[in-house]
Amino acid sequence: MTKDELFRYQPELIRLLTNAYQKNKLVHAYLFEGNEGTGLKELAEYFSMLLLCENEEKHPCYKCNSCKRVLDHTHTNLIWIEPSNDAISKDKIESLIHEFSMTSLEGGNQISIIMDADKLNSSASNALLKFLEEPKDNHYAILITTNKNRILPTIVSRAQVLHFKPLSEEHTISCLKA
Ligand SMILES: [Zn+2]
Repeated sequence: MTKDELFRYQPELIRLLTNAYQKNKLVHAYLFEGNEGTGLKELAEYFSMLLLCENEEKHPCYKCNSCKRVLDHTHTNLIWIEPSNDAISKDKIESLIHEFSMTSLEGGNQISIIMDADKLNSSASNALLKFLEEPKDNHYAILITTNKNRILPTIVSRAQVLHFKPLSEEHTISCLKA
């Protein structure tokens, strides 16, 4: 999904996060839930740029060095976790915690994004839960899932859930035609 499509299809979620950021009301954990292709990953990138963009604008610029590194997944203050062999192991969560417990080289906000968070195994879930229970001031976590019911309820209760609405029918039809 392009930037324009994200703004067109999920304007409420963009507004919610942007307002919370501007009013200093962000929470430390968000759970993004919705169908694939509804902008889950793109909104996580938007959120990260909102916190890391070098320009003081209403929306992240998508152009500065920080924004570019968010989009390339090379920003050192941003860690992406994805399942391997269909599971997210405790090791991955522990190395995330370890990495963010060191003083960040670049200072500023730190974001961890956990793709397919329903693939966390139970020991990984428990390690993550401890991490979410004692968030550092400058740390934010985004959990992404297409199936919230498969995530430990204690983790869900620690996060603000953002539901991604399905794309409109016209969009689906134009995609099928393309
Ligand atoms: Zn920027």
